[in-house]
Amino acid sequence: MTGETTGGAADLDRRLADAVERLGHGLRSLAQRSARAQGLSPLQQQVVLALAGQPAARREVNALAAEFDVTTPTMSDAVGALERKLLLARSPSSDGRRRLLTLTAQGEVVARELATWDEPLLTALAKLPVEDRATTLDTLLHLIGDLHRRGVVSVARMCTTCRFFSPDVHPDPAAPHHCNLLRTPLPLAELRTDCPEHEPATA
Ligand code: SF4
Repeated sequence: MTGETTGGAADLDRRLADAVERLGHGLRSLAQRSARAQGLSPLQQQVVLALAGQPAARREVNALAAEFDVTTPTMSDAVGALERKLLLARSPSSDGRRRLLTLTAQGEVVARELATWDEPLLTALAKLPVEDRATTLDTLLHLIGDLHRRGVVSVARMCTTCRFFSPDVHPDPAAPHHCNLLRTPLPLAELRTDCPEHEPATA
């Protein structure tokens, strides 16, 4: 019985991993299609979208390289290509030591065009009950947190990798976790994926 249960669970895990891989493949195809329509590579698309939405501290080559798990020379190439396409410009930061990247007016137009690249996924998610979406978010953040601790995912500014996060400390199944910075229970549906207050948990 135990062997059957273990075998069944292992098989379930295999199928879950297959499903996640298939989802990742689909998202890569979507990203490629939208990037190609703007004459960009998928990495250049990620840079444009990141520059449109990220705080100034993260708008430089090294931070973007870490964010997207590529080497600094690879990111420099992508940034150089976007500069030649007149979609971004470099300027010195206030401390004069870094070169901040900023979208040009043309780059902002392209960013708005790219913003809906994952719309098919959002449409599919919207069809699910909100409770299922909240549970899925919780499950995915725990998986990403585990992979982050194993060094598979490099940058993750989400609750499950944050030093202020206390999991499963409240009886409410809809809000079992706690943020020790905000001093409040965290509903599953409100777990953060890019929190400005995030501080990395120590290993
Ligand atoms: S500080 Fe932000 S990332 Fe950290 S636990 Fe609180 S809400 Fe989550």
